Amino acid sequence: MCRLCNMKRRHFGQALLGLGAGMAIARPLTAEALPAHPLPLVMLDPGHGGHDPGAMAPDGTEEKTITLSSAFALRRALLATGRYRVAMTRTHDQFIALEQRVAIAVGAKADLFISMHCDHLPEADLRGASIFTLSSDASDSLAASIASDENQADSFAGPNMPGVSPQVASVLASLETRATRISSANFAHDIRNSFKGTVPLLPDPLRSANFAVLRDPSVPSNLLEMGCLTNPLDEKLLRSPAHRREMAARLTAAIDLYFDQHAPPSSPHKAKPHKTSWRTS
Ligand SMILES: [Zn+2]
Repeated sequence: MCRLCNMKRRHFGQALLGLGAGMAIARPLTAEALPAHPLPLVMLDPGHGGHDPGAMAPDGTEEKTITLSSAFALRRALLATGRYRVAMTRTHDQFIALEQRVAIAVGAKADLFISMHCDHLPEADLRGASIFTLSSDASDSLAASIASDENQADSFAGPNMPGVSPQVASVLASLETRATRISSANFAHDIRNSFKGTVPLLPDPLRSANFAVLRDPSVPSNLLEMGCLTNPLDEKLLRSPAHRREMAARLTAAIDLYFDQHAPPSSPHKAKPHKTSWRTS
């Protein structure tokens, strides 16, 4: 573990955890107090909440409600495998600033971070999910527009690195960022491949943009737009508990594949070849 991570994790003293039993509790977290756990920690980030409803469908369906229900469905599916610990950045209708969402993931030593959202696109016939990874340059104008919308939740000033000069912090962050970005890109491919034929996808569903919640260099992360609230077919699917369970099952399969094959080589949770039988479905 690098010096940068240790300092950042000590700085972020609190995290909301919903581990196993499913209830959110406030718990002090420090690098010293958290021994390595045999199960990887997946941090789910239901987008928006509280006074920030996110995107809104023509009939009034709010993104913040869909994201929370979808995150609960995914948490149930992941816990059922027995392979993971699962935490959430919020477990009820609560506003959490973007920077705080990142801090919760870092403070909890998350092994994977998934920010869950719904699109609001200018053309109502556009539909399907898309998976974003971090990039300072957006992959296309649509990706740039989506990132701009999602980043409006609050301003983000970048990772806080107390005690480290900006020059040293930049070098340390860049070293971590490369491995993290490779893992994040692999995970995005895993989601796309798992969704194919089951969950509708936007054309060119793998995109990149400068999302505030993806900027931490130490935690592999994706931002998932689960569908478009501006499309009537997608909105109907997103409101369906059965569809959310199906999407959770496909995401669980993608997360299984990620930890079996695509987690960073340094990860203590990357499956060894003889452990691929961990899969439960
Ligand atoms: Zn959103």
